[in-house]
Amino acid sequence: MSEVIVIGAGLTGLTLAYRLKRAGVDVKIVEQSDRVGGQIASHREGDFLFESGPNTGVVSCPEVAELFADLGASCTMEEASGSAKRRLIWCRGRLRPLPSSPWGGITTPLFTVGDKLRLLLEPWRAKGRNADESVADMVIRRMGRSFLDYAVDPFIGGIYAGDPSRLVTRYALPKLYNLEQTYGSFIRGAIAKRKIAKSERDKSATGHIYSVRGGLETLCRAMADHIGGDNIILSARNTVVTRTDGGLWRVSYDGGAVEAPRVVTTVGSYALRSLLPWAPHDIVTRIEQLEYAPVVQVSVGLSDACGCCDDAFGALIPSLRGFQTLGVLFPSACFNGRAPENGAMLSFFLGGMRSKECIDWDDRRIESFVTKELSTLLGIDRRPDLIRIWRHRHAIPQYDATTGDRLDAIRQLEDSAPGLTIAGNMRDGIGMPDRIRQASQLAARIIMDTNRS
Ligand SMILES: Cc1cc2nc3c(=O)[nH]c(=O)nc-3n(C[C@H](O)[C@H](O)[C@H](O)COP(=O)(O)OP(=O)(O)OC[C@H]3O[C@@H](n4cnc5c(N)ncnc54)[C@H](O)[C@@H]3O)c2cc1C
Repeated sequence: MSEVIVIGAGLTGLTLAYRLKRAGVDVKIVEQSDRVGGQIASHREGDFLFESGPNTGVVSCPEVAELFADLGASCTMEEASGSAKRRLIWCRGRLRPLPSSPWGGITTPLFTVGDKLRLLLEPWRAKGRNADESVADMVIRRMGRSFLDYAVDPFIGGIYAGDPSRLVTRYALPKLYNLEQTYGSFIRGAIAKRKIAKSERDKSATGHIYSVRGGLETLCRAMADHIGGDNIILSARNTVVTRTDGGLWRVSYDGGAVEAPRVVTTVGSYALRSLLPWAPHDIVTRIEQLEYAPVVQVSVGLSDACGCCDDAFGALIPSLRGFQTLGVLFPSACFNGRAPENGAMLSFFLGGMRSKECIDWDDRRIESFVTKELSTLLGIDRRPDLIRIWRHRHAIPQYDATTGDRLDAIRQLEDSAPGLTIAGNMRDGIGMPDRIRQASQLAARIIMDTNRS
Protein backbone atom coordinates (compact mmCIF):
# COMPACT_ATOMS: atom_id res chain seq x y z
CA MET A 1 0.00 0.00 0.00
CA SER A 2 1.24 3.52 -0.84
CA GLU A 3 1.10 6.55 1.45
CA VAL A 4 -0.24 8.95 -1.19
CA ILE A 5 -2.07 8.52 -4.51
CA VAL A 6 -1.92 11.40 -6.99
CA ILE A 7 -4.50 11.55 -9.78
CA GLY A 8 -3.07 13.09 -12.95
CA ALA A 9 0.49 13.14 -14.32
CA GLY A 10 0.56 16.75 -15.52
CA LEU A 11 2.99 19.29 -14.09
CA THR A 12 1.11 19.53 -10.77
CA GLY A 13 0.88 15.78 -10.20
CA LEU A 14 4.44 15.07 -11.29
CA THR A 15 5.95 17.86 -9.17
CA LEU A 16 3.98 16.67 -6.14
CA ALA A 17 4.96 13.02 -6.62
CA TYR A 18 8.59 13.94 -7.36
CA ARG A 19 8.85 16.03 -4.18
CA LEU A 20 7.22 13.27 -2.09
CA LYS A 21 9.41 10.54 -3.59
CA ARG A 22 12.57 12.54 -2.88
CA ALA A 23 11.49 12.76 0.78
CA GLY A 24 11.00 8.99 0.91
CA VAL A 25 7.19 9.01 0.82
CA ASP A 26 5.70 6.06 -1.06
CA VAL A 27 3.59 7.55 -3.84
CA LYS A 28 1.61 6.31 -6.85
CA ILE A 29 0.30 8.36 -9.79
CA VAL A 30 -2.84 7.31 -11.66
CA GLU A 31 -3.08 8.89 -15.13
CA GLN A 32 -5.76 8.36 -17.75
CA SER A 33 -3.65 9.02 -20.85
CA ASP A 34 -0.77 6.90 -22.11
CA ARG A 35 1.90 9.53 -21.41
CA VAL A 36 3.05 11.91 -18.68
CA GLY A 37 3.03 15.71 -19.02
CA GLY A 38 -0.68 16.58 -19.32
CA GLN A 39 -0.90 19.88 -21.20
CA ILE A 40 2.88 19.95 -21.63
CA ALA A 41 4.04 18.18 -24.80
CA SER A 42 7.09 18.82 -27.01
CA HIS A 43 7.51 17.59 -30.59
CA ARG A 44 10.47 17.26 -32.94
CA GLU A 45 10.08 17.07 -36.73
CA GLY A 46 13.30 17.38 -38.70
CA ASP A 47 15.05 20.53 -37.50
CA PHE A 48 11.88 21.95 -35.91
CA LEU A 49 11.31 21.57 -32.17
CA PHE A 50 7.96 22.88 -30.91
CA GLU A 51 5.45 22.76 -28.09
CA SER A 52 1.75 21.96 -28.34
CA GLY A 53 0.95 23.30 -24.84
CA PRO A 54 2.88 25.91 -22.89
CA ASN A 55 5.87 27.43 -24.72
CA THR A 56 7.76 29.04 -21.84
CA GLY A 57 7.79 29.33 -18.06
CA VAL A 58 8.93 32.09 -15.73
CA VAL A 59 11.17 31.67 -12.67
CA SER A 60 8.70 33.73 -10.67
CA CYS A 61 8.94 31.83 -7.38
CA PRO A 62 11.75 30.02 -5.50
CA GLU A 63 10.01 26.65 -5.96
CA VAL A 64 10.76 26.74 -9.72
CA ALA A 65 14.47 27.46 -9.16
CA GLU A 66 14.63 24.73 -6.49
CA LEU A 67 12.98 22.16 -8.76
CA PHE A 68 15.52 22.69 -11.55
CA ALA A 69 18.41 22.74 -9.06
CA ASP A 70 17.26 19.39 -7.64
CA LEU A 71 16.78 17.79 -11.05
CA GLY A 72 20.34 18.75 -12.00
CA ALA A 73 21.76 17.42 -15.25
CA SER A 74 18.63 15.40 -16.10
CA CYS A 75 16.85 18.59 -17.09
CA THR A 76 18.71 21.70 -18.27
CA MET A 77 16.89 24.99 -18.02
CA GLU A 78 17.42 27.26 -21.04
CA GLU A 79 17.03 30.98 -20.33
CA ALA A 80 15.46 33.01 -23.12
CA SER A 81 17.72 35.33 -25.10
CA GLY A 82 17.48 39.14 -24.86
CA SER A 83 14.85 39.10 -27.65
CA ALA A 84 12.31 37.88 -25.07
CA LYS A 85 12.29 41.37 -23.52
CA ARG A 86 10.74 42.83 -26.68
CA ARG A 87 6.94 42.41 -26.87
CA LEU A 88 4.88 43.59 -29.81
CA ILE A 89 1.28 44.81 -29.83
CA TRP A 90 -0.94 45.18 -32.90
CA CYS A 91 -2.07 48.79 -33.04
CA ARG A 92 -3.57 50.74 -35.95
CA GLY A 93 -2.51 48.37 -38.72
CA ARG A 94 0.96 47.31 -37.56
CA LEU A 95 2.96 45.74 -34.77
CA ARG A 96 4.51 48.20 -32.33
CA PRO A 97 6.79 47.50 -29.34
CA LEU A 98 5.32 47.64 -25.86
CA PRO A 99 7.36 50.35 -24.08
CA SER A 100 10.02 49.01 -21.73
CA SER A 101 11.47 52.32 -20.48
CA PRO A 102 10.01 55.62 -19.17
CA TRP A 103 11.01 57.38 -22.44
CA GLY A 104 9.36 54.61 -24.46
CA GLY A 105 6.28 55.10 -22.31
CA ILE A 106 6.16 58.82 -23.13
CA THR A 107 6.68 58.43 -26.89
CA THR A 108 4.65 55.26 -27.59
CA PRO A 109 1.58 55.70 -29.80
CA LEU A 110 -0.17 52.85 -27.93
CA PHE A 111 -1.57 55.08 -25.17
CA THR A 112 -3.38 58.41 -25.42
CA VAL A 113 -1.76 61.62 -24.14
CA GLY A 114 -4.65 61.96 -21.67
CA ASP A 115 -3.99 58.49 -20.22
CA LYS A 116 -0.22 59.09 -20.04
CA LEU A 117 -0.92 62.20 -17.95
CA ARG A 118 -3.49 60.25 -15.95
CA LEU A 119 -0.83 57.64 -15.16
CA LEU A 120 1.33 60.35 -13.56
CA LEU A 121 -1.48 60.87 -11.03
CA GLU A 122 -1.92 57.12 -10.35
CA PRO A 123 -0.05 57.23 -7.00
CA TRP A 124 -2.65 59.68 -5.64
CA ARG A 125 -5.77 57.93 -6.93
CA ALA A 126 -8.12 56.45 -4.25
CA LYS A 127 -7.89 52.75 -3.45
CA GLY A 128 -10.62 50.47 -4.86
CA ARG A 129 -13.30 49.23 -2.46
CA ASN A 130 -14.95 46.50 -4.50
CA ALA A 131 -13.18 43.24 -3.62
CA ASP A 132 -14.69 41.57 -6.70
CA GLU A 133 -13.79 44.32 -9.17
CA SER A 134 -12.96 43.07 -12.67
CA VAL A 135 -9.51 43.53 -14.18
CA ALA A 136 -10.99 45.85 -16.84
CA ASP A 137 -12.73 48.12 -14.30
CA MET A 138 -9.64 48.31 -12.13
CA VAL A 139 -7.34 49.26 -15.02
CA ILE A 140 -9.74 51.89 -16.39
CA ARG A 141 -10.15 53.37 -12.90
CA ARG A 142 -6.43 53.60 -12.16
CA MET A 143 -4.78 53.99 -15.57
CA GLY A 144 -7.29 54.76 -18.32
CA ARG A 145 -8.99 53.08 -21.26
CA SER A 146 -6.02 53.00 -23.66
CA PHE A 147 -3.93 51.07 -21.10
CA LEU A 148 -6.72 48.52 -20.94
CA ASP A 149 -7.05 48.29 -24.73
CA TYR A 150 -3.37 48.17 -25.70
CA ALA A 151 -1.60 46.64 -22.68
CA VAL A 152 -3.85 44.74 -20.28
CA ASP A 153 -6.44 43.33 -22.71
CA PRO A 154 -3.78 41.80 -25.02
CA PHE A 155 -1.83 40.58 -21.97
CA ILE A 156 -4.97 38.90 -20.55
CA GLY A 157 -5.61 37.43 -24.01
CA GLY A 158 -2.06 36.03 -24.01
CA ILE A 159 -2.02 34.60 -20.48
CA TYR A 160 -5.65 33.70 -19.75
CA ALA A 161 -7.04 33.61 -23.29
CA GLY A 162 -9.62 35.54 -21.30
CA ASP A 163 -11.82 38.61 -21.14
CA PRO A 164 -10.59 41.28 -18.66
CA SER A 165 -14.16 42.44 -18.02
CA ARG A 166 -15.00 38.96 -16.60
CA LEU A 167 -11.85 38.11 -14.64
CA VAL A 168 -11.77 39.28 -11.02
CA THR A 169 -8.46 41.00 -10.19
CA ARG A 170 -8.13 39.57 -6.69
CA TYR A 171 -8.15 36.00 -8.07
CA ALA A 172 -6.75 36.45 -11.59
CA LEU A 173 -3.95 38.95 -10.83
CA PRO A 174 -3.50 38.71 -7.05
CA LYS A 175 -0.11 40.47 -7.07
CA LEU A 176 -1.63 43.55 -8.74
CA TYR A 177 -4.61 43.49 -6.40
CA ASN A 178 -2.37 43.27 -3.32
CA LEU A 179 -0.17 46.10 -4.60
CA GLU A 180 -3.16 48.44 -4.62
CA GLN A 181 -4.60 47.14 -1.34
CA THR A 182 -1.27 47.29 0.53
CA TYR A 183 0.31 50.43 -0.91
CA GLY A 184 -2.69 52.30 -2.33
CA SER A 185 -1.11 52.45 -5.81
CA PHE A 186 0.63 50.23 -8.38
CA ILE A 187 3.48 52.73 -8.83
CA ARG A 188 4.01 53.40 -5.11
CA GLY A 189 3.76 49.67 -4.42
CA ALA A 190 6.30 48.75 -7.10
CA ILE A 191 8.78 51.34 -5.76
CA ALA A 192 8.27 50.26 -2.13
CA LYS A 193 8.70 46.57 -2.99
CA ARG A 194 12.03 47.25 -4.70
CA LYS A 195 13.35 48.68 -1.41
CA ILE A 196 12.43 45.58 0.65
CA ALA A 197 15.52 43.43 1.28
CA LYS A 198 15.11 39.96 -0.26
CA SER A 199 16.21 36.70 1.35
CA GLU A 200 18.64 34.50 -0.64
CA ARG A 201 15.71 32.17 -1.35
CA ASP A 202 13.53 34.99 -2.70
CA LYS A 203 16.41 36.18 -4.88
CA SER A 204 16.36 32.82 -6.66
CA ALA A 205 13.03 33.90 -8.20
CA THR A 206 14.84 35.80 -10.96
CA GLY A 207 11.82 36.44 -13.19
CA HIS A 208 13.73 34.90 -16.12
CA ILE A 209 11.77 33.35 -18.95
CA TYR A 210 12.85 29.78 -19.63
CA SER A 211 12.34 26.65 -21.63
CA VAL A 212 14.15 23.33 -21.28
CA ARG A 213 16.77 21.81 -23.55
CA GLY A 214 14.85 19.35 -25.73
CA GLY A 215 11.53 21.07 -24.97
CA LEU A 216 9.42 21.51 -21.82
CA GLU A 217 8.34 17.86 -21.84
CA THR A 218 11.91 16.99 -20.78
CA LEU A 219 11.07 18.50 -17.37
CA CYS A 220 8.10 16.14 -17.01
CA ARG A 221 10.04 13.11 -18.19
CA ALA A 222 12.93 13.87 -15.82
CA MET A 223 10.53 13.93 -12.87
CA ALA A 224 8.76 10.76 -14.09
CA ASP A 225 12.13 8.95 -14.33
CA HIS A 226 12.86 9.82 -10.72
CA ILE A 227 9.38 8.80 -9.53
CA GLY A 228 9.88 5.49 -11.32
CA GLY A 229 7.77 3.75 -14.00
CA ASP A 230 6.42 1.24 -11.44
CA ASN A 231 4.85 4.10 -9.50
CA ILE A 232 3.08 5.67 -12.49
CA ILE A 233 -0.04 3.89 -13.72
CA LEU A 234 -0.74 5.10 -17.28
CA SER A 235 -3.82 4.52 -19.47
CA ALA A 236 -6.01 4.22 -16.35
CA ARG A 237 -9.56 4.49 -17.72
CA ASN A 238 -12.75 5.17 -15.73
CA THR A 239 -10.92 6.15 -12.56
CA VAL A 240 -13.11 6.35 -9.45
CA VAL A 241 -12.10 7.34 -5.92
CA THR A 242 -14.00 5.73 -3.02
CA ARG A 243 -13.55 5.21 0.73
CA THR A 244 -12.87 1.67 2.00
CA ASP A 245 -14.44 0.30 5.20
CA GLY A 246 -11.00 0.55 6.78
CA GLY A 247 -10.90 4.34 6.17
CA LEU A 248 -8.44 4.26 3.27
CA TRP A 249 -8.89 5.87 -0.15
CA ARG A 250 -9.29 3.38 -2.96
CA VAL A 251 -8.59 4.52 -6.52
CA SER A 252 -9.97 1.98 -8.97
CA TYR A 253 -9.67 2.01 -12.75
CA ASP A 254 -10.32 -0.51 -15.53
CA GLY A 255 -8.20 -3.52 -14.64
CA GLY A 256 -6.83 -2.47 -11.23
CA ALA A 257 -6.95 -0.49 -8.01
CA VAL A 258 -4.58 1.12 -5.49
CA GLU A 259 -5.16 2.20 -1.89
CA ALA A 260 -3.65 4.83 0.40
CA PRO A 261 -4.61 7.00 3.39
CA ARG A 262 -4.25 10.17 1.24
CA VAL A 263 -5.38 11.02 -2.26
CA VAL A 264 -4.72 14.22 -4.21
CA THR A 265 -6.60 15.10 -7.40
CA THR A 266 -4.96 17.41 -9.98
CA VAL A 267 -7.66 17.10 -12.65
CA GLY A 268 -9.92 19.86 -13.99
CA SER A 269 -13.26 20.69 -12.35
CA TYR A 270 -15.11 19.02 -15.26
CA ALA A 271 -13.55 15.64 -14.33
CA LEU A 272 -14.45 15.69 -10.61
CA ARG A 273 -18.05 14.44 -10.80
CA SER A 274 -17.15 11.09 -12.34
CA LEU A 275 -13.99 10.78 -10.25
CA LEU A 276 -15.81 11.38 -6.92
CA PRO A 277 -19.32 9.93 -7.51
CA TRP A 278 -20.13 10.10 -3.76
CA ALA A 279 -19.41 13.86 -3.48
CA PRO A 280 -22.56 15.95 -2.72
CA HIS A 281 -24.21 17.04 -5.99
CA ASP A 282 -24.58 20.71 -4.96
CA ILE A 283 -20.90 21.04 -3.96
CA VAL A 284 -19.65 19.54 -7.23
CA THR A 285 -22.06 21.77 -9.18
CA ARG A 286 -20.55 24.84 -7.50
CA ILE A 287 -17.03 23.65 -8.40
CA GLU A 288 -18.17 23.00 -11.98
CA GLN A 289 -19.07 26.68 -12.37
CA LEU A 290 -15.45 27.15 -13.41
CA GLU A 291 -15.28 27.94 -17.12
CA TYR A 292 -12.24 27.08 -19.25
CA ALA A 293 -11.13 29.09 -22.27
CA PRO A 294 -10.81 26.88 -25.36
CA VAL A 295 -7.59 27.53 -27.30
CA VAL A 296 -6.29 26.36 -30.66
CA GLN A 297 -2.53 26.43 -30.88
CA VAL A 298 -0.99 26.28 -34.36
CA SER A 299 2.71 25.46 -34.69
CA VAL A 300 4.11 27.07 -37.83
CA GLY A 301 7.58 26.21 -39.16
CA LEU A 302 9.40 28.21 -41.84
CA SER A 303 12.62 26.86 -43.37
CA ASP A 304 13.61 30.38 -44.41
CA ALA A 305 12.04 33.29 -42.52
CA CYS A 306 14.14 36.00 -44.26
CA GLY A 307 15.08 37.54 -40.91
CA CYS A 308 11.45 37.92 -39.83
CA CYS A 309 10.35 37.13 -36.25
CA ASP A 310 13.90 37.00 -34.89
CA ASP A 311 13.94 39.89 -32.43
CA ALA A 312 10.95 39.56 -30.08
CA PHE A 313 9.14 37.22 -27.70
CA GLY A 314 6.04 37.53 -29.83
CA ALA A 315 3.05 39.67 -30.65
CA LEU A 316 -0.22 40.12 -28.78
CA ILE A 317 -3.41 41.18 -30.49
CA PRO A 318 -5.90 43.48 -28.70
CA SER A 319 -9.50 42.30 -28.90
CA LEU A 320 -10.33 45.71 -30.44
CA ARG A 321 -8.94 44.32 -33.70
CA GLY A 322 -11.93 42.01 -33.69
CA PHE A 323 -10.24 38.88 -35.01
CA GLN A 324 -9.82 35.41 -33.57
CA THR A 325 -6.06 35.60 -33.08
CA LEU A 326 -4.95 36.03 -29.47
CA GLY A 327 -1.26 36.28 -30.30
CA VAL A 328 1.76 34.66 -31.86
CA LEU A 329 4.98 33.64 -30.11
CA PHE A 330 8.43 33.49 -31.73
CA PRO A 331 10.13 30.62 -29.78
CA SER A 332 12.99 30.33 -32.27
CA ALA A 333 13.92 33.98 -31.57
CA CYS A 334 14.33 33.21 -27.86
CA PHE A 335 15.79 29.68 -27.78
CA ASN A 336 18.39 27.79 -29.82
CA GLY A 337 17.62 24.69 -31.82
CA ARG A 338 13.93 25.36 -32.52
CA ALA A 339 14.19 25.78 -36.31
CA PRO A 340 16.71 25.22 -39.13
CA GLU A 341 19.34 27.94 -39.63
CA ASN A 342 17.63 31.07 -41.08
CA GLY A 343 14.27 29.45 -40.39
CA ALA A 344 11.67 30.24 -37.72
CA MET A 345 9.28 28.38 -35.46
CA LEU A 346 6.11 30.28 -34.50
CA SER A 347 3.14 29.45 -32.25
CA PHE A 348 -0.20 31.02 -33.12
CA PHE A 349 -2.96 31.06 -30.49
CA LEU A 350 -6.59 31.35 -31.63
CA GLY A 351 -9.94 31.42 -29.89
CA GLY A 352 -10.08 31.87 -26.13
CA MET A 353 -13.10 33.45 -24.46
CA ARG A 354 -13.29 36.03 -27.26
CA SER A 355 -13.89 33.53 -30.07
CA LYS A 356 -14.87 30.20 -28.57
CA GLU A 357 -16.06 28.98 -31.99
CA CYS A 358 -12.47 28.55 -33.29
CA ILE A 359 -12.13 25.26 -31.40
CA ASP A 360 -14.73 23.72 -33.75
CA TRP A 361 -13.18 24.97 -36.99
CA ASP A 362 -11.88 22.16 -39.19
CA ASP A 363 -8.18 21.87 -40.02
CA ARG A 364 -8.51 23.40 -43.51
CA ARG A 365 -10.17 26.51 -42.16
CA ILE A 366 -7.54 26.90 -39.42
CA GLU A 367 -4.69 26.44 -41.91
CA SER A 368 -6.01 29.01 -44.34
CA PHE A 369 -6.79 31.46 -41.50
CA VAL A 370 -3.26 31.18 -40.07
CA THR A 371 -1.65 31.49 -43.50
CA LYS A 372 -3.57 34.77 -43.99
CA GLU A 373 -2.61 36.00 -40.51
CA LEU A 374 1.03 35.22 -41.28
CA SER A 375 0.79 37.70 -44.14
CA THR A 376 -1.26 40.40 -42.37
CA LEU A 377 0.56 40.40 -39.05
CA LEU A 378 4.10 39.47 -40.06
CA GLY A 379 4.30 40.22 -43.78
CA ILE A 380 5.16 36.59 -44.64
CA ASP A 381 3.44 35.76 -47.93
CA ARG A 382 4.22 32.12 -48.47
CA ARG A 383 2.93 28.79 -47.27
CA PRO A 384 4.68 27.54 -44.15
CA ASP A 385 6.84 24.40 -44.43
CA LEU A 386 5.15 22.91 -41.36
CA ILE A 387 1.71 23.47 -39.82
CA ARG A 388 0.46 21.43 -36.86
CA ILE A 389 -2.85 22.10 -35.13
CA TRP A 390 -3.54 21.44 -31.45
CA ARG A 391 -6.98 21.89 -29.91
CA HIS A 392 -7.28 22.48 -26.14
CA ARG A 393 -10.97 22.47 -25.16
CA HIS A 394 -10.16 23.09 -21.49
CA ALA A 395 -7.05 25.22 -21.92
CA ILE A 396 -7.12 27.91 -19.24
CA PRO A 397 -9.48 28.20 -16.23
CA GLN A 398 -11.11 31.61 -15.87
CA TYR A 399 -10.94 33.04 -12.36
CA ASP A 400 -14.16 35.04 -12.65
CA ALA A 401 -16.88 36.17 -10.22
CA THR A 402 -17.76 32.54 -9.36
CA THR A 403 -14.27 31.95 -7.89
CA GLY A 404 -15.03 32.78 -4.24
CA ASP A 405 -17.96 30.35 -4.16
CA ARG A 406 -15.92 27.65 -5.93
CA LEU A 407 -13.07 27.94 -3.41
CA ASP A 408 -15.59 27.66 -0.54
CA ALA A 409 -17.11 24.56 -2.16
CA ILE A 410 -13.65 22.95 -2.57
CA ARG A 411 -12.89 23.60 1.12
CA GLN A 412 -16.26 22.10 2.16
CA LEU A 413 -15.57 19.01 0.07
CA GLU A 414 -12.09 18.58 1.58
CA ASP A 415 -13.41 19.13 5.14
CA SER A 416 -16.02 16.41 4.62
CA ALA A 417 -13.47 13.91 3.32
CA PRO A 418 -10.30 13.78 5.47
CA GLY A 419 -7.25 12.68 3.46
CA LEU A 420 -8.62 14.08 0.17
CA THR A 421 -6.98 17.17 -1.36
CA ILE A 422 -8.25 18.95 -4.46
CA ALA A 423 -5.21 20.48 -6.20
CA GLY A 424 -4.56 21.54 -9.81
CA ASN A 425 -5.30 24.74 -11.63
CA MET A 426 -8.86 25.25 -10.43
CA ARG A 427 -7.17 27.09 -7.52
CA ASP A 428 -3.84 28.85 -6.76
CA GLY A 429 -3.00 30.05 -10.28
CA ILE A 430 -3.06 28.96 -13.90
CA GLY A 431 0.59 29.11 -15.03
CA MET A 432 3.43 26.61 -14.75
CA PRO A 433 5.11 28.43 -11.82
CA ASP A 434 1.79 28.37 -9.96
CA ARG A 435 1.53 24.64 -10.55
CA ILE A 436 5.07 24.00 -9.32
CA ARG A 437 4.55 26.21 -6.26
CA GLN A 438 1.21 24.63 -5.32
CA ALA A 439 2.58 21.10 -5.67
CA SER A 440 5.82 21.88 -3.77
CA GLN A 441 3.97 23.53 -0.88
CA LEU A 442 1.45 20.69 -0.70
CA ALA A 443 4.28 18.14 -0.71
CA ALA A 444 5.97 19.99 2.18
CA ARG A 445 2.71 19.81 4.20
CA ILE A 446 2.22 16.10 3.48
CA ILE A 447 5.86 15.32 4.36
CA MET A 448 5.47 17.18 7.67
CA ASP A 449 2.24 15.25 8.46
CA THR A 450 3.86 11.93 7.49
CA ASN A 451 6.86 12.60 9.79
CA ARG A 452 4.55 13.56 12.65
CA SER A 453 2.40 10.43 12.49
C1 LIG B 1 -2.30 26.03 -25.06
C2 LIG B 1 -1.75 26.32 -23.68
C3 LIG B 1 -0.69 27.20 -23.54
C4 LIG B 1 -0.17 27.47 -22.28
N1 LIG B 1 0.90 28.32 -22.19
C5 LIG B 1 1.49 28.52 -21.00
C6 LIG B 1 2.72 29.25 -20.91
O1 LIG B 1 3.28 29.69 -21.93
N2 LIG B 1 3.27 29.41 -19.68
C7 LIG B 1 2.72 28.89 -18.55
O2 LIG B 1 3.27 29.08 -17.47
N3 LIG B 1 1.59 28.14 -18.61
C8 LIG B 1 0.97 27.94 -19.80
N4 LIG B 1 -0.14 27.15 -19.88
C9 LIG B 1 -0.68 26.57 -18.63
C10 LIG B 1 0.10 25.30 -18.24
O3 LIG B 1 0.16 24.44 -19.33
C11 LIG B 1 -0.60 24.64 -17.06
O4 LIG B 1 -0.54 25.49 -15.93
C12 LIG B 1 -0.02 23.30 -16.61
O5 LIG B 1 0.53 22.55 -17.66
C13 LIG B 1 -1.16 22.54 -15.93
O6 LIG B 1 -0.65 21.37 -15.33
P1 LIG B 1 -1.62 20.46 -14.43
O7 LIG B 1 -0.85 19.28 -14.02
O8 LIG B 1 -2.24 21.28 -13.35
O9 LIG B 1 -2.82 20.05 -15.39
P2 LIG B 1 -2.78 19.09 -16.67
O10 LIG B 1 -1.57 19.32 -17.46
O11 LIG B 1 -4.11 19.29 -17.34
O12 LIG B 1 -2.71 17.63 -16.05
C14 LIG B 1 -3.84 16.96 -15.52
C15 LIG B 1 -3.64 15.47 -15.81
O13 LIG B 1 -4.74 14.75 -15.25
C16 LIG B 1 -5.11 13.72 -16.14
N5 LIG B 1 -6.51 13.35 -15.85
C17 LIG B 1 -7.63 14.08 -16.08
N6 LIG B 1 -8.71 13.39 -15.66
C18 LIG B 1 -8.27 12.22 -15.15
C19 LIG B 1 -8.91 11.10 -14.56
N7 LIG B 1 -10.24 11.04 -14.39
N8 LIG B 1 -8.14 10.06 -14.14
C20 LIG B 1 -6.79 10.08 -14.29
N9 LIG B 1 -6.13 11.13 -14.84
C21 LIG B 1 -6.86 12.18 -15.26
C22 LIG B 1 -4.94 14.36 -17.51
O14 LIG B 1 -4.83 13.38 -18.54
C23 LIG B 1 -3.64 15.16 -17.31
O15 LIG B 1 -2.50 14.41 -17.63
C24 LIG B 1 -0.71 26.85 -21.13
C25 LIG B 1 -1.78 25.96 -21.27
C26 LIG B 1 -2.29 25.67 -22.52
C27 LIG B 1 -3.42 24.70 -22.68
